Amino acid sequence: MNVTDYMEAHGHEQLSVYTDPEAGLRAFIAIHDTTLGPAVGGVRIWPHRTEQEAIVDVLRLARGMTYKSAAAGLNMGGGKALIIASAQDKSEAMMRAFGRFVDTLGGRYVTTEDVGATLRDLEHVAQETEYVVGLPVSQGGSGDPSIMTAFGIYRGMKACALDVWGSESLEGRTVALQGFGKVATRLAGHLTNERARLVVSEIDPAGLERARQANLETLDDPSAIYDQECDIFAPCALGGILNDDTIPRLRCRIVAGAANNQLLEDRHSSTLQSKGILYAPDYIINAGGVINISLEMEGEYDETLAAERTGRIYDTLQQVMDTARSRDITTAQAADRLAEERIEAVRRVKRIYL
Ligand code: NAD
Repeated sequence: MNVTDYMEAHGHEQLSVYTDPEAGLRAFIAIHDTTLGPAVGGVRIWPHRTEQEAIVDVLRLARGMTYKSAAAGLNMGGGKALIIASAQDKSEAMMRAFGRFVDTLGGRYVTTEDVGATLRDLEHVAQETEYVVGLPVSQGGSGDPSIMTAFGIYRGMKACALDVWGSESLEGRTVALQGFGKVATRLAGHLTNERARLVVSEIDPAGLERARQANLETLDDPSAIYDQECDIFAPCALGGILNDDTIPRLRCRIVAGAANNQLLEDRHSSTLQSKGILYAPDYIINAGGVINISLEMEGEYDETLAAERTGRIYDTLQQVMDTARSRDITTAQAADRLAEERIEAVRRVKRIYL
């Protein structure tokens, strides 16, 4: 792969490479687009087998963050960091070395938690740079983002329900939850409060047991979730799960969940649409976490304001569904247009000399 060709083709600004052999650090920071503000995105710690795999991953994830923040109306650009390491390789030195490299970017990139990273890791990063968000509330941060992510998904499901059934009520609706981790557990709380029926799949026996303890129906075979007769299928585990194998099995009217990159390929949004399934674009409906973080960046974190802004995911989804209908495109394409048009509009405004 020619990295600069790839970056030009996908609109990336910058890719930085860092090494500190003594700290065991090999890292990349990708900055996709900073038209709207500093590039914000988590640091993923993952033992990629090849550098090329890691570079494609970090570039793709950074671009995803640009779209997520832009569509959510935030003044933040898209970025992501990737440390090539497994959980056992992590150390204080590694995270502090990473923090020092983040600092060299002078605020063009602001880091936070992602797959493989923990709050403890972020605390080490924060020893070396102020450009880190998502710290615990006790340290002046915005805390666990999954609380707002779950709330945003709940609100988004209601917007979808109104569109499909003419009523936003989820009472009596069946929701199939794939995964019962941090977001899904909170989401289940909102849904059971509204008397929805839940069916849960989970590959981790401890997670499955937690769902049982909460009196939820559970599946012994995780892959049986795709065959469940339900109203809403909520992917809350991994990406790439909407594909040629799974979509024909779905028996729902709505797909709305937390996972990032749910569509294996862009064309799968058309496959869903032709099957009469409304797809809530992942980065629109799961933006609660990044909205939460944006408040931390603005200054004093305010949970009430975070919930109010996260609740607007309802309106954003309605806008996406209206655009899809009026332009005869899929909801995924409508979401992309929303993000791209906002970035373009702000780019034009920024030509004015101050
Ligand atoms: P998590 O790790 O707490 O939960 C994911 C759960 O899915 C785990 O319990 C895991 O065992 C389970 N799982 C994995 N593969 C599975 C499979 N094939 N079938 C059933 N269960 C499976 O993560 P989370 O924070 O709850 O996030 C869930 C998803 O939402 C992730 O894809 C994440 O990237 C995305 N997301 C999370 C946030 C957030 O604020 N936490 C924000 C935006 C997007």
